[in-house]
Amino acid sequence: MADRDGVIWMDGKMVDWRDAKIHVLTHTLHYGMGVFEGVRAYQQADGSTAVFRLKEHTRRLFNSARIFQMNLPFTEEQISEATKAVVRENKLESCYIRPIAWIGSDKLGIGARTNTIHVAVAAWPWGAYLGAEGMERGIRVKTSSFTHHHPNVTMCKAKAVGNYPVSILSNQEATNEGYDEAMLMDPQGFVCQGSGENVFLVKDGELHTPDLAGGALDGITRNSIFTLAAEHGIKVVERRITRDEFYIGDEAFFTGTAAEVTPIRELDGRTIGAGSRGPVTTKLQAAFFDVVNGRNPKYAEWLAKV
Ligand code: PMP
Repeated sequence: MADRDGVIWMDGKMVDWRDAKIHVLTHTLHYGMGVFEGVRAYQQADGSTAVFRLKEHTRRLFNSARIFQMNLPFTEEQISEATKAVVRENKLESCYIRPIAWIGSDKLGIGARTNTIHVAVAAWPWGAYLGAEGMERGIRVKTSSFTHHHPNVTMCKAKAVGNYPVSILSNQEATNEGYDEAMLMDPQGFVCQGSGENVFLVKDGELHTPDLAGGALDGITRNSIFTLAAEHGIKVVERRITRDEFYIGDEAFFTGTAAEVTPIRELDGRTIGAGSRGPVTTKLQAAFFDVVNGRNPKYAEWLAKV
């Protein structure tokens, strides 16, 4: 990732991709407190490029920082502009964008409250996160032996750097065993989310998804699916869900900025429904891609032209 052409927005200016470096004594590197976003821009039907739900992603970055009492030295407007600028200046069409804020290297030790807060935004092309085939056929998922964070251990409303080791452990475990992705249970034993995705179950034509009290991230794709489901007359229920409800569900899918809408065809060796992308998932996935690619003018306000 470090050795490529392009520019990265770093603390207010564009720097050469290869020069976007930080010191080894960076506080966040040692203690894991930092916040970030995952955003996507899509090439639009008219050939332009637009960032999907930029305002919501920037707002969540600032909310994450607020939770950790990190005062970002920029406004939301400045970070949104930086996000568009990295897409533009790197001449990207469809791409993934990574804003990140971290605590600097001024001082080490847990209590370094006066350290400088830094912000960077990078962007690069990134296709289907869980594979193009998975988008059509569905992926195979395994319940993790690692438990998702309790909301009082790490702050689950924040998209925080330190929340991700358990995601990595779970994903490692699942992929080592030949699965595509992991499903994490919350500390009470209910389904929480994927290692980097929210999850939905389809049962009798309704959508069910874990409520956020279990610690799942308040996903922006999840929220977009709520709106698209309402438009298609599909009821959405947020509640506690057990893993065996998925075993006997009709369909299931993951949502996320990286994962977009990825069907799940199997959990823990049990085929879900017909074992393929089901009709409700197909409908919502198509609706999602119509929206992000600017083919549905109703959602123009979700798209920020770069
Ligand atoms: N849960 C986790 C743990 C994630 O990392 C992500 C990706 N940001 C999501 C859910 C989905 O959130 P969003 O749709 O906002 O990308």
